[in-house]
Amino acid sequence: MQTVIIGGGIIGLLTARELVMAGHNVTVLDQGQIGAEASWAGGGILSPLYPWRYSEPVNQLAKWSQQHFAALAAQLIQEGGTDPQWTQSGLLVLDRNEQSEARQWAQSYGLPCELVDVQRLAELEPELAIPDKSALWFPTLAQVRNPRLVKSMVESCEKHGVQLRPQTQVTGITLRGQRATAVETSRGSVAADTIVVASGAWSARLLSGLGMQVPVRPVRGQMIMYHAAPGQIRHINLYEGHYVIPRQDGRVLVGSTLEEVEFDKSTTADAREILAGFAHALFPVFRDMPIEHHWAGLRPGSPDGIPYICAVPDIGGLYLNTGHYRNGVVLGYASARLLVDLILERQPILEPAPYRLAS
Ligand SMILES: Cc1cc2nc3c(=O)[nH]c(=O)nc-3n(C[C@H](O)[C@H](O)[C@H](O)COP(=O)(O)OP(=O)(O)OC[C@H]3O[C@@H](n4cnc5c(N)ncnc54)[C@H](O)[C@@H]3O)c2cc1C
Repeated sequence: MQTVIIGGGIIGLLTARELVMAGHNVTVLDQGQIGAEASWAGGGILSPLYPWRYSEPVNQLAKWSQQHFAALAAQLIQEGGTDPQWTQSGLLVLDRNEQSEARQWAQSYGLPCELVDVQRLAELEPELAIPDKSALWFPTLAQVRNPRLVKSMVESCEKHGVQLRPQTQVTGITLRGQRATAVETSRGSVAADTIVVASGAWSARLLSGLGMQVPVRPVRGQMIMYHAAPGQIRHINLYEGHYVIPRQDGRVLVGSTLEEVEFDKSTTADAREILAGFAHALFPVFRDMPIEHHWAGLRPGSPDGIPYICAVPDIGGLYLNTGHYRNGVVLGYASARLLVDLILERQPILEPAPYRLAS
């Protein structure tokens, strides 16, 4: 079986790896560099932010991925690739207003969650200027370092025989009758039995060529980074919609913004100021540190953040794996496995109905 995946972000790469390991010949096409868009730009928190605000379909994907991500990271390292730095850094939710809802939610998902007082907070995160009297501590939540995850996925895909073709823009999908049979690209036509659209924020644009309206839109997110000492900031901290994520080498990401500006990926002075202000208030130690880097990425926004993981109705051989919005890294592993279950007609890991495109 020849499969073409359109888009070499984390969703395309995870799908490619699952398919090649199941015996498909897989080619991944990307209009730019492989893995250089949202999947590079993201924070790598392996949980939706405030997961109790999300629907069951999002949380079910997250739960499956959370249960399997450590093993995936270990496999990637075992294959001799880059360490994606899966790290169980734990997450502190510093907002107080949703604590009882959050604790109920955590109990129903079997996720360890502890209410911590000021004294315990100070022990957990010594540099924190504690904003309130208590916080929620999720000790088992983890993160990966996105650029390293993408690199290790590229290495793994190559090792398993996936053909990766950067700088190859897909301009159209060819139908024969009611079946997709090829993709047209800036470098010629590529025939396929199975085609997967994993084109992130660009998915709707591509599918509009088939007369399809798929509600996936770009949502810009900006991020800044400091370089602290390793271990100076210990955990992921979430407060009033913003977060800090400490990496193993002391780098600390501070994010993010939510901006509807079409495909504009530029960074802005306003966002820099807002993110730095947040960082300074929560961790005064950042006041004396320069911002090392500032970047933006385009999330594939979908209604309620529920991704489309499905066969396209009425077109044989064409599948979607897109629209993961703010959570593509955490949802991606489950999402790839579910789509491959559907393609191979295996017992799916999750009930697929919530992720279908309305016909
Ligand atoms: C600032 C920020 C912070 C984030 N933080 C987190 C987080 O902490 N945790 C989390 O889980 N998620 C996070 N996300 C979300 C996550 O990064 C995305 O949901 C995820 O990366 C989407 O992956 P993707 O593969 O669908 O998209 P992308 O990585 O954007 O990949 C799509 C690829 O398709 C290619 N493409 C598009 N059109 C075509 C075409 N016509 N032909 C060929 N190639 C094409 C593009 O070049 C691109 O490489 C964050 C995102 C941002 C921006």
